[in-house]
Amino acid sequence: MLTYITIPVGAFQENCRFLINQENGSTVICDPGDNARELYRLTEKYHLKVKAIILTHGHLDHCGGAMELARLLNVEILGPHRDDEYWLHNLDMQASMFGLESRPPLTPHRYLEDGEVLDIPDIGEKILVLHCPGHTPGQVCFYFKESGILLSGDVLFAGSVGRSDFPKGDPEQLISSIRNKLMILPDETRVLPGHGGESTIGEEKRENPYINGYFG
Ligand SMILES: [Zn+2]
Ligand SMILES: [Zn+2]
Repeated sequence: MLTYITIPVGAFQENCRFLINQENGSTVICDPGDNARELYRLTEKYHLKVKAIILTHGHLDHCGGAMELARLLNVEILGPHRDDEYWLHNLDMQASMFGLESRPPLTPHRYLEDGEVLDIPDIGEKILVLHCPGHTPGQVCFYFKESGILLSGDVLFAGSVGRSDFPKGDPEQLISSIRNKLMILPDETRVLPGHGGESTIGEEKRENPYINGYFG
């Protein structure tokens, strides 16, 4: 079983997550959006053996610290889907929009495909990749079946959904991604979004007005 810790990073308080195999300390880091050095120090402090960095999408608040952290840890960056190349290659534009420090374009070691299963050494659990376009075209969510955890990025939030009014966003696609890829997961699945608090699939099925059609 995996345990996890959440470290909000950067100006947008994005939830960077460490997924940790409790038996051997092997760790996957999802969405190190900022504060790479601080995250690196945490891995040292807790003697974590980081095996990979995984990215949900190409927005700066999620991937802005990925290259520096990958260099410090000497690990690969996996994801998101190739359709987020537009965002990953325009990190400097994203940074200047928010008055943040400029970043070079990011090319992950590997893009991910819908339905792909990641088998990262020593993590002890496979990770299913779910391509969920709508917030960005190449956004993916990560499903840890054994631990019952969904990293939902900026697709699904507790009681809300991601914005779809950015360039290349698509509100209908977003809702159909959520209905067809996420709402079919078991009700007890813990939903860990890229911002804000946690939820479960069952709770979102019952309570989330965006999915239930009250807002079209
Ligand atoms: Zn985003
Ligand atoms: Zn975000």
